[in-house]
Amino acid sequence: MPSPPSRTACVDCDLLVRIDGLAGGERATCPRCGSVLTARTEDGWTKSLAFALAAAMLLLAANLFPFLSLQASGLEQVMTLPGSAVELYRGGYTTIAVLVMGPIVGIPALIVATATALLIPLRRGRATPWLVPAGKLLSFLGPWSMVEVFVIGVLVSLVKIGAMATVVMGISFWAYVAFAICFTLMITSLDRVQLWRDIEACVA
Ligand SMILES: [Zn+2]
Repeated sequence: MPSPPSRTACVDCDLLVRIDGLAGGERATCPRCGSVLTARTEDGWTKSLAFALAAAMLLLAANLFPFLSLQASGLEQVMTLPGSAVELYRGGYTTIAVLVMGPIVGIPALIVATATALLIPLRRGRATPWLVPAGKLLSFLGPWSMVEVFVIGVLVSLVKIGAMATVVMGISFWAYVAFAICFTLMITSLDRVQLWRDIEACVA
């Protein structure tokens, strides 16, 4: 069902463009610079919800198993994501534990939960009391997730640690990499303009 027209500013050139309701599979581009303003997928929100559910399961797995183990001089140290936060807390680095675990586990988990709570009723076109607050929370939390920064950070530090100790990646490391991919695909599939149009259409 096409949604009603509205005005959207182009993120690249700031031109204010009036966008008519898009049907599934259609996209709107800026008449001045040609960048894509908004796109509507053919499957509604099914793909986004599938990425969200996959991301939720992978993030859970990333917290349940060993993340990586370090072997040096006959000693082996196995690290888990929650375990490293507990170690920081025990060492008196509570703020660092929160600053590290927040953007890589806490906030992404909250984003996935919020997106799931939003997409399930949106797919069915059902109005629920939390649609608007969940949409606002999703927009607010977005910039605070550092999933891809963490994956790159781990890879960079492994190059350094690799010279001092033998590093073996655990199940959780691969689960987190797969989570990062699903999480990024979920975020990129959530078209902000279409999301808010559907929320408005549901609550109207
Ligand atoms: Zn433009």
